[in-house]
Amino acid sequence: MSAIQLFKAKYEVEECLEEIRECLLAGWTGMGFKTVKFEEAWKTYTGLPFAHYLNSSTIGLYLAVDILKEHYGWKDDDEIITTPITFVSSNHAILKSHMKAVFADIDDTMCLNPESVREHITDRTRAVMYVGIGGNMGHYSEIVEICREHGLELILDAAHMAGTRYKGEIPGREASVVVYSFQAVKNLPTADSGMICFKDGRLDEIVRKKTWLGINKDTYARTQNMGNYKWKYDVEYVGEKGHGNSVMAAIGLVQLKYLDRDNAYRRQLAAWYQEELAECTDKIKFVRIEEACESSFHLFQICVENRDALMLELNAAEIYPGVHYASNINYKMYSYAKGSCPYSDYVSDHTISLPMNMYITYEDIKKVCQVIKHFLNR
Ligand SMILES: *Cc1c(COP(=O)(O)O)cnc(C)c1O
Repeated sequence: MSAIQLFKAKYEVEECLEEIRECLLAGWTGMGFKTVKFEEAWKTYTGLPFAHYLNSSTIGLYLAVDILKEHYGWKDDDEIITTPITFVSSNHAILKSHMKAVFADIDDTMCLNPESVREHITDRTRAVMYVGIGGNMGHYSEIVEICREHGLELILDAAHMAGTRYKGEIPGREASVVVYSFQAVKNLPTADSGMICFKDGRLDEIVRKKTWLGINKDTYARTQNMGNYKWKYDVEYVGEKGHGNSVMAAIGLVQLKYLDRDNAYRRQLAAWYQEELAECTDKIKFVRIEEACESSFHLFQICVENRDALMLELNAAEIYPGVHYASNINYKMYSYAKGSCPYSDYVSDHTISLPMNMYITYEDIKKVCQVIKHFLNR
């Protein structure tokens, strides 16, 4: 039997090639054309009012903090409450804008613990960075309520959340900004890209300029405006090169059609893991998923006592799980928070993400769980 990988993107190859062929034949692979179509399709799918296509979610998180900071006149060293258990993009975004990442602890949903968030609010707190880890929303509605009570902006790092439903719908309208990732191993895989969805249309206008060096008119719009001083544009910001392109959007448009189907299969895989591991509940800690959340199951995480040894044992059987994540507080730029988030430290040392991708079969899951059970019962 061949190796079982944590992630492996599965594409609708022929359809993607057809959509990319259109870009090549049209001689238009850059911003505009398919990127506009994908933005429209994403707004329709999510019900969010604005969407701007990006070359990564990382640039989206940076610009989310940057634009909110400028818009609300936040100061350097003002604070954003965030989680240690995330990909560093979420927290680097805060430091990039010269603000302070204040770490609150997580709970057994792997997402921020609302009580801990409350305890960390000061008169310099401006926002909460909330990460729906693995597609799980955790205690999201309490976080929304806390932000409302304290006048805090809510930044939703939705990198794992493509297709997650909460209380029956796609969450995000209540957040100031939602940032999705369509990186190669996420639930909607392109190769690298993302989407930023501001609640406020004025900020959507700004981010469109800031992802193209600060230029206030994109090439496509200028080409449509035949002959009229196409070369004339203003530069309003020292912006980034952060917008997406039509080749990535072509893949995104196709994969979006299959996102709900793929996520339904991920939920099936999660159910099989739960079934197969049900007899070990004394030795395995599962992630709590609230009734209100229909998770995209980007990840299937468990916590076990001897994680590193289990990892080796799985590797020996050609099974390659992952860890999401080592606490960001372990890294030098966040080490000022050492010791402040005990449950995150526990998760950092004990969590393991079991293989979760569209190539995995019931047989694979039985094999993975056999190795785990054998290890735990020894
Ligand atoms: C993958 C990921 C990102 C970054 O996404 P890119 O599109 O690769 O920039 C940000 N946050 C989280 C939680 C992620 O998992």
